[in-house]
Amino acid sequence: MSIFKSVYRVLRIVLVVAAIFGMAYQGRIKEDFENYKMRAIPALMYHSISGVPEGWPADLCIAPEVFEEHLKYLQARGYNVITAPQAMILLKSRQNVMNTVILTFDDGYENNYTEAFPLLKKYGFRGNFYIVGNDVGKTKNQDGVKKYMTYGQIKQMHDQGMEIGSHSMSHDPLTSIKPDMLPWEIYQPLNLFYEKMGFWISGIAFPNGAFNDTIIAEVRKYFKYEYGFSGIAGCNTLKIVTETPFALRRAGVYDRGNGVKDIETVLQ
Ligand SMILES: [Zn+2]
Repeated sequence: MSIFKSVYRVLRIVLVVAAIFGMAYQGRIKEDFENYKMRAIPALMYHSISGVPEGWPADLCIAPEVFEEHLKYLQARGYNVITAPQAMILLKSRQNVMNTVILTFDDGYENNYTEAFPLLKKYGFRGNFYIVGNDVGKTKNQDGVKKYMTYGQIKQMHDQGMEIGSHSMSHDPLTSIKPDMLPWEIYQPLNLFYEKMGFWISGIAFPNGAFNDTIIAEVRKYFKYEYGFSGIAGCNTLKIVTETPFALRRAGVYDRGNGVKDIETVLQ
């Protein structure tokens, strides 16, 4: 046998062994990922369910037709679309949470009530809405039309199973406001919403996702608060909901013009 033939044979064996290990390794990664999906719940972040008004950043808007495509996608795959408190209970019970998702809506735009709410009901899904205390019922015209839900509308959504939470009073990032304003930003929505609508909220979504230890310490003072959404990207696991419930993860969904692909990308 020539030296070349032996080298070729050895090389072939090495390649086959490497391929087998490679496949096994890939299978392992896939299995790890599948295991992770059984133990982790993504939270998706929406804002305005509308076309893009003049002067608005496109990133804040998803057209109602596109939003419905997202809901159809979730329904077709048998997704369990639930509230943040429900998700925390599920994770703590160590159940398989594969195909479970939290849909969140920030800022309290009126179209959350007129567009998102009826669609969520149509598909039997529950949404999570984070409201800016100072903006309830207001219309701001300086940059096109910015209309916010009224207490009556928010209460209706709450009474029909939607989760309502705080998005602070002013929407200024809590990390950049004067420390003596923190209690007002954090405590006031609890009180105000109870006074106006008759129920206690338990969650806060930090404006722009911004938080630090001081802010979390302030939130923890008011025991009604049980969770907070941070700006950290990723999924929520048992470890996160038990160890850092005020730094839950979220991922933004943006309309990149690909319809349902835009939600698929975030979920995979
Ligand atoms: Zn916001």
